[in-house]
Order: sequence, then C-alpha cells, then structure tokens
Amino acid sequence: MNDGKAYTGIDCFRFAAALLVIAIHTSPLSSCSAPGDFFLTRIAARVAVPFFFMTSGFFLISRYAKDNEKLRVFLRKTAWIYGGAIILYLPLNVYNGYFSGRHFLPVLFRDLLFDGTMYHLWYLPASMLGACLAWGMVRKMGLKKAFLLAGVLYLLGLFGDSYYGIAGKFSFLEHLYAEIFEISDYTRNGIFFAPVFFILGGIAADQTARAENGFHRGGKGGRHSAEIQAAEKPEQKRLSAKYFCGFGIFFLLMCIEGMSLHRFQMQRHDSMYVFLPPCVYFLFRWLSFWRGGRRKALRTSALLLYLIHPMVIVAVRILGKITGLQRFLIENSLVHFLTVSISSVFFAVLFAGLWDQWKRGQKMQYAPGKDRSWLEIDRDNLRHNAKALKKAMPQGCEMMAVMKAEAYGHGMYEIAACLDQAGVKAFAVATIEEGIRLRRFGISGEILILGYTDPARAAELHRYDLTQTLIDYSYSRHLNGQGCDVKVHIKIDTGMHRLGFGTEDEERLLHTFNMRRLHVCGIYTHLCVADSQKEADIRFTDRQIHRFYGLLERLEQRGVKLPKIHLQSSYGLLNYPGLPCDYVRAGIALYGVLGSSYDQTRLKLDLRPVLSLKSRVVLLRRIKKGESVGYGRTFTACRDSRIAVLPAGYADGLPGNLSGGRFSVILNGQMAPVIGRICMDQLMVDVTDAGPVAVGDVATLIGQDGEKEVSAPETAGYAGSITNELLSRMGGRLPRIAAS
Ligand SMILES: *Cc1c(COP(=O)(O)O)cnc(C)c1O
Repeated sequence: MNDGKAYTGIDCFRFAAALLVIAIHTSPLSSCSAPGDFFLTRIAARVAVPFFFMTSGFFLISRYAKDNEKLRVFLRKTAWIYGGAIILYLPLNVYNGYFSGRHFLPVLFRDLLFDGTMYHLWYLPASMLGACLAWGMVRKMGLKKAFLLAGVLYLLGLFGDSYYGIAGKFSFLEHLYAEIFEISDYTRNGIFFAPVFFILGGIAADQTARAENGFHRGGKGGRHSAEIQAAEKPEQKRLSAKYFCGFGIFFLLMCIEGMSLHRFQMQRHDSMYVFLPPCVYFLFRWLSFWRGGRRKALRTSALLLYLIHPMVIVAVRILGKITGLQRFLIENSLVHFLTVSISSVFFAVLFAGLWDQWKRGQKMQYAPGKDRSWLEIDRDNLRHNAKALKKAMPQGCEMMAVMKAEAYGHGMYEIAACLDQAGVKAFAVATIEEGIRLRRFGISGEILILGYTDPARAAELHRYDLTQTLIDYSYSRHLNGQGCDVKVHIKIDTGMHRLGFGTEDEERLLHTFNMRRLHVCGIYTHLCVADSQKEADIRFTDRQIHRFYGLLERLEQRGVKLPKIHLQSSYGLLNYPGLPCDYVRAGIALYGVLGSSYDQTRLKLDLRPVLSLKSRVVLLRRIKKGESVGYGRTFTACRDSRIAVLPAGYADGLPGNLSGGRFSVILNGQMAPVIGRICMDQLMVDVTDAGPVAVGDVATLIGQDGEKEVSAPETAGYAGSITNELLSRMGGRLPRIAAS
C-alpha cells in the first residue's frame, strides 16, 4: 500500500518544469532558430509555472477544508523561502542599482507583493496571494463558483498579457490596464494568474478522490471488490489515455493560439493563453495516473533549481568573461542552456542533500512539548503495521482504518494523515463529529460512522460525504425521510445484540436496499468473541460468520446486488483470516498492540507498538524510613528512600488503579515502582535502587527503553482493563510528538 501510491509522475514533472523555466531564461534555441525558440520559451515552457501552482492547489485546496491549518503552513513555508531568496539575491540587486532608483519604497512594495525583487521571484508572492484567494473563494462559494470567478480574473489578466493588442484598441481598457500596471508590471501575478490554477488543483484532487472512492460503483449496491479491481485496470488505462489526448489537443490549440497572437503582434507579454489552463489541467491529470514511490528529493531539488538558476546564469557569465570562453559558453545558446542547467542541477541536488541533513540534525536537538509528559507516536511503526495487516488480508480486501476516540488516543489527525499518505482509502469513526473533523482535515477517502447519528443531521452527512451505519429498520426509515441523499452501510446483528438488523429481517432489508434516499454502499456485522480461543467462543464466532454469509446469500438470491461487505475487526482478521470480504476494520492491531497481553492469535503478525508515554523527572527528594507518600498516606517507606516526582496523572489517562505498587516505570534503564496513589496530575516513584537519577531525566511509562519494556497490554492488565480502553483515554491533555 505504501508503494505505488505516491504521485511520482507529478514529482518528476516538477523537476522537468524547473528545467523549462531555465529554458525560458536562457533561450536555448535562439542561436539556431528564432521560431523554434519562440515556440519553446514563449509557448511550450509556459506550462511550467502553472503546473507548480496546480500542484500546490492539489494538496491545499479542498471543498472540505474549513480550518485553515494547511493554508497557514503553506504560507509560512513559502514566506520563509521568499525571505531567504530575497536575501540571496540582495547582492545582485545592489549590483544592478536596485536601491538607488527613484521611488524606491513604492517600487519595493510593488515588488514584494507582485513582481518579486528579482525577475523570477514573482512566483513566490503570487503563490501566497493566489493560495489565499483560491482558498477563500472555495470556502465562500464552493469549487465550481470559485473556479468561475477565478476564470473571470484570468480572462481579465489575458487582456493585459498576450491579448493586450485588443485592449490597446479601446481607450478605456487601455486606461484600466495602465492603472493595473501601476501596481504590478504584469497581470501574470497572484490575482489574475495564480488562483485559477490553484483551484484547478483542488478540482483535480476532488475528482481523483471521487474516482477512487466512487459513490457506489456500478449501480445501486456496487460490486465485489475483486470484480471492481479487475474492471479498474483497463478503466484506468482508458482514463489516462483520455487525459493524455486532452493534453495533446489543448497543447496544439495553445501553440496555434500563441503563434497567431505572435503573428498579429497582440502580445504585450506571453504568459497567459486561453488554452493554457485546460492544457495544464489535462497534463496534470494524466501525470497523476503515474503512481509509485515518493520523490521528495526531486521535489526539493525542483524548487531549489527554480530559485537558484538566475544566480547560476550570472555565475556562468562571469566565468565566461574570466576564462575568455564567452563565445563558446554564452553566445552558443544551447551550450549556455546546458551549462546553466547542469550547474544548477548540481547545486540544487547538493543543497537539497545538505538541507535534508540539517533538518534531521534539527529534529534531534529541538523537542518542543517534551518538557512535561508526552506521547511519542512512531509513524514508521504505524506504516509497518498497516502494511503487515494489508498483507494478511485476502486479495482485493482493503483496510478500513478505525480512527475513533482520537485514533485510540494516538491523535486522529496525525494518524489519518499518515495513513492517507500511505494509501489507506477508508476510515471508520464512532461519531459524526469525528467524521466531520476528518473531512475538515482534508481526508477525502470513505469515512464510515460506526455508531448512531441523529437522522435530523442527514444534511451534514450529505454535505461532508460521510457514510452512516443503519442500526435498524426504523432508523433507516427515519434517515430516508430526511429529504437528502445519504451513503449508508447496513449493520447486521449476528449475535452481539448491540446494533443492527436481525438476520431474519430479510423483508425489511430488501425494503431498505430500495429506499430512495439511501445509497447502500456496504453491509457488515461485528464479531464479539473473535479474540477468544476457547472452544465455545470459536463455535459462537463460526455461527456469527455463518449467519452473516447465509443472509448475504439469501439476499443475493432475491436479486440484491451485494455492496461492499465486511465483518472483521483486528481479532477477526488475526483469528479468522481469509474470510472473503471488501474491508477489514482494523483498530487496535493497526496501533501495534493486542487487547490484552495473554491473548494468542492464529495469525502471528509482526506488529509494533505505535504509542509510548514518557515523562520527565521534575523533582527528587529523600524521605526517612516511616514517612508516608501521597494522598491517603497509602505508602509508608520501610527504609530511607529516594523519591522522584513525575508530572503525569490520571487526568493524563493513566488509570488511577495502577496505584499501590502495581505498576513500575523505566528510569535510567531500571524499573522504578510507582508508590502511593496516582494523583490527577502527578505520580511518585521510588528510585532508591535506580542508580543516579537526575531532574530532567526521561521516564518511560509505556513503551520501550533499551532492554526494558512496559507494554500497553500489560499495563491495561494491571489496571483490570484492556488496551483499547487504556489507549483511548490517553492524551486529552498530553501533547503528541513524532518519534524521531
Ligand atoms: C471499534 C470497532 C472496530 C475496531 O476494533 P479493533 O478491535 O480495535 O480492531 C471495528 N468495528 C467496530 C464496529 C468497532 O466499533
């Protein structure tokens, strides 16, 4: 799942696009063919920057993004890059006499906001402005209307760019554009140019998500996933071919457009064409079918290439002068282009490597949030578990990652984002609020609500494209009566007697399948003793399984096209592998632990714990034999002792009944028992035998430290509970930090 899912094609083309930008600035064909050069640098290479914008939009703009977290991160990052680039080019600015010009301050303001302080840097403010406009417009009016509005802006921009010849014929237009050019040298900027591409990126993301997560594929009810997969391959090829043809056609049209405009001398500048947006859109969609490994280095290098190449151009010029090779190095445009490109690539790759190393060094030095107690989330282990579970599933079966209760205390956002990147397409939550939050985070895959949602909230289910579980017949009728379309999965009660239709409810089920407003995309049941290896429990589970498949068969015989089916959660998969189905709802196993430490499972997978709980010694004190510690004076020292205070308590999710010597933490590589009662915010441990412990030392409360381990299932066991409960209570207050 990990491999084969990242957008390799898009990453690769970003690099190519950066080379195209170098071509724009070096005109490689100018010494052999003027028309060829015009075609390459004024038309073909113009797809490059819009492609960058669209890529940013693809990951940034979403109809669901109601909180602006992603936007803020994007703006902050781009602003840093912009700041760095401005400083990098300061010497050149000074050399060019930038600061001695008249109207220095207004010019600086204009450049900072629109044109960039160096000719190619306009891209960065345009990114920021364009992203803000696009994001705001999509949020206010939705994708479609925002696209139309951005289209109008683009149209306005066209007449200040390659269609200026037309605007020049009308004096009021000429005046209008003269005003515009007062504040920005071009219309190719963050207002007229960038937004439409950002929004196209958002549209592409939306459509990709929809294509991969169809609104029940193939008629009411959908089909089995094996069938779908088989059908999907040629379908994908067909689509990919379609986008490629689209790109070809629009590229050709754009060439004709550019040549004609050139011929009639319409152009003031040549960045904007009518056929450029569709051309870039089809190119992007076509490339998005090329999936594979992540190419992060390529991405960073592409950006660096873009940023530094003008510097390299200057350097090559100076080099030419010094060595007297001007004629060869500079006047031969092709050699010039190649020299600049190769040197730029060299430096970009070098800097990308250095940057990567620096970032890694940073991570180890700087650890915000680790001053009190914290949860460490190991995403490598999460990805590993997801992969291991996926491997254990039958072919065609997908993972449905269970995200309820803050992803079992691990942090819903971090976990969902990580799994989303790793290619997981389906998620399950317990409540509609959790579902809406996932959507707002930008998760575009299927989101199934496992529990009850008030039917009166059907409109929200629809708006956020959430899938609701039907818990019985009367609930289904209520939901159907709300007047809006809702995606649903039907729950079947096969013996747990919690939620679901009875297996004898065939007539009502048939009714439900035909309800006008309900789109049945799935049918499922839940096993209630799949964790047990006792003979009676195995018999019970077999009966549940049998009942479920029996019902499905009867429904099929009565003409129902079966939607997606699922019945196993973690233990279902581990103890009853190989059942034919479309999803496994993986919760606890995904987080790398079992419910309790005594459990044995038939499948033995290498699952690795994702969560650790750590805390820092804030105070050390000595007490005399006979003195007591904590509330209720439940602990009395039987010897002179050394006590450490850790700032973690039951309000942090550590069960209070771990008090009284039932639980030890790892400190300085030794086990140190918790003494006295665990308080709301603190606990005390006896470190008399733990060697040299100092204030500031890190204690491991759950997790591994060297040889020693305190596992979550063990800890849950001491507290008389199971891991699921222990973890899901964790972290209302604790910060979550990625393990390095
Ligand atoms: C919580 C839940 C799961 C996940 O269970 P795990 O044992 O954690 O894998 C699956 N299905 C339903 C209906 C659930 O409520």
